Amino acid sequence: MYQLKHSLDTVRGIGESWKKALAKKNIHTVLDFLLYLPLHYEDRSRIFSIAQLKRFSNSVIIDQDQLKNKDKQNKDYQSKQDFFTLIVQVKDYSQYYKGRLLISRATLVDKSGELPAIWFNNKFLKTKLKEGQDYYASGQFKNNSLLQAKLEAVAKDSPHTARLVPIYSQISPFKQGSLRRLQKEIVDHLSPQHLFQALHLFQALHFPKNSQEIIQAREQLALEEIIFLIDKAKKLKKTWESKNLAPSIEIKKQNLIPENLPFTLTNAQQQAITEITNDLKKTAAMNRLLIGDVGSGKTAVAAIAAWHSCLAGHNAVLVAPTQILAQQHFQTIQKLLPKQKLYLVTAQTSKNFKKDSASIYVGTHALINKLEDIKPALIIYDEQHRFGTKQRQNPQAHLLSMTATPIPRSLMLTIFAHLQTSILDEMPANRQMAKTWLVPKSKEENAIIWLAEQLLKSPDKQAFIVCPFIDPSQHSALENVAAVKDSLKQLEVLLGKYYQEKQIKKTKQIKIALLHSRLKKQEQEEVIEKLYNKGLQILVSTPMIELGIDLPSADFIIIQAAERFGLASLHQLRGRVGRIGQESFCILFTTNPLKTEDDRAKIKQKSQERLKIFCQEKDGFKLAQLDLQQRGAGDIFGNAQSGFNKLQFASWTNLKIIKEAKKISEQDQHYQSILTPYFEKREFLAEINDN
Ligand code: ADP
Ligand code: MG
Repeated sequence: MYQLKHSLDTVRGIGESWKKALAKKNIHTVLDFLLYLPLHYEDRSRIFSIAQLKRFSNSVIIDQDQLKNKDKQNKDYQSKQDFFTLIVQVKDYSQYYKGRLLISRATLVDKSGELPAIWFNNKFLKTKLKEGQDYYASGQFKNNSLLQAKLEAVAKDSPHTARLVPIYSQISPFKQGSLRRLQKEIVDHLSPQHLFQALHLFQALHFPKNSQEIIQAREQLALEEIIFLIDKAKKLKKTWESKNLAPSIEIKKQNLIPENLPFTLTNAQQQAITEITNDLKKTAAMNRLLIGDVGSGKTAVAAIAAWHSCLAGHNAVLVAPTQILAQQHFQTIQKLLPKQKLYLVTAQTSKNFKKDSASIYVGTHALINKLEDIKPALIIYDEQHRFGTKQRQNPQAHLLSMTATPIPRSLMLTIFAHLQTSILDEMPANRQMAKTWLVPKSKEENAIIWLAEQLLKSPDKQAFIVCPFIDPSQHSALENVAAVKDSLKQLEVLLGKYYQEKQIKKTKQIKIALLHSRLKKQEQEEVIEKLYNKGLQILVSTPMIELGIDLPSADFIIIQAAERFGLASLHQLRGRVGRIGQESFCILFTTNPLKTEDDRAKIKQKSQERLKIFCQEKDGFKLAQLDLQQRGAGDIFGNAQSGFNKLQFASWTNLKIIKEAKKISEQDQHYQSILTPYFEKREFLAEINDN
């Protein structure tokens, strides 16, 4: 019997090599392992006969009744004909080598017919097979044969077949099947000391009876996570004010706003600055959250707060989540406050770090190691994923965090009880949202040519092309990169033809570059710099720019496979263009990844509706809400949230869960989640990894 807190040593089947591989993923306890969740599930629960399988695969329209019933059970049900399980006996087994490849063949039999099966390099198959035994068989049906079939003796609870089968992200060098077996071993032997609810939770996460169970279990995790955060915030609130002191920053009334700003601040910005400066005067350290939709002008507020700190003779620090953003903030602040002493500190430049006074330091997490040296009076975090739940003990500085996370104020106050909040609920006057168009497949090339014409006409303009976002959890970044490269190639071919047709000389052609996370940091920087210096007109990129590129003269963004993004993410991306109030355009392309006509039509319709709404709606918060309503469970899993404060299980836009968490933590002051040890540890890890 296993307990959640047990070390993995105790688990049958986990030896040294497993332990090592798991440790690399920071998995040390039974609880850690159980929270290594499936990325998705293959529905092999439908039992087919051999005859049915053959019939289905020859026509696109599958057993309609069966489909309809499934649809009723689960709206998100997809790829209907891909997975199945047969119940068969195995006969005529033979094996032979072809070169070094071991090939095994057999015939699978049931009452309805026979089916050849082929395996490659499966050494153990022979020893496992028993004559007269009924097996579940699930595999790939191709050319009238079953390939690499998974065989399991028919039993009530089979982990690999005849069910919703969990698929995990790989832990090399081990196979899916072994990982699944280990999860099964643990789930089946959890100590009954744990609450029934906990036992059921893990059963449902790994070996669910139906998709409803998965959704409920994931919601449970999300709930626990939010409760953990709320409780943490309450504790922090208690200790913050008494323990954390910071230099009092004298503010002279006539100086509240710097002179010669390139624009007039919005009322909301001025209000936020007043709130912040009122806090800065105190010796109790400020801990404030600045909330504002994309483009509401948070950076200017941060810069002015930092400027006040410098006026009073102190240093200030602005920490950005990525190098690109740090660089941009640096440039933005330079323009805003040209006389201000300003330094950029990233992993690369930190070697040449120089200590100064009354300066603003902008940088990545590399900055955090320098805090002792810099001794800032004010630390600002942009789009941070932790909002000060795990800030350094006693930083002796005022803290300001900034976010575009779209949750309503009242709930914000609950989750971040330890923070004061300022809200930018007003957009700069000149700002107009990018005109957004959904372009049908047949018009995509026209749209690109249109873009090319615009760029050729006004070489000062710039465009982003954001490429297919392959499910981030399921595929490696490598595949994202492959997609970007493909996209670039297509673009070049298309433009090549156009140049030839119009006889456009090489020197006049549009300059294009590629940006993705697999490029070396230095190469990334070079691309960004070129972009800023107008040495580039089109940047083809993975969604990494979502986090916030502030390129004032970006006018166009094309988003490919737009249906794969959440609306909130699309909104973030759209916020990358038209940043100085110029007319700008957001163009959405779509793909259709599904196989059958039936699926395609349905999914297409749904996603087109979503995207059409997106074209009209400008409010980031409303879009996030819509996302939740329309995407349902998918969004509960909360992994498509890059750019926002990272939660592992919950999503900021799931108000239902946040409200419920609030209720539970109010009613039960001593609520103890079985997941607490996990969340505590994860926060700690996040901190180490950041540095
Ligand atoms: P976000 O809140 O998304 O971080 P930024 O701070 O990057 O937004 O500001 C978005 C853009 O708007 C920047 O180009 C910035 O210079 C500009 N901006 C900020 N405040 C104003 C203002 N009051 N009037 C006009 N433009 C502004
Ligand atoms: Mg920003």
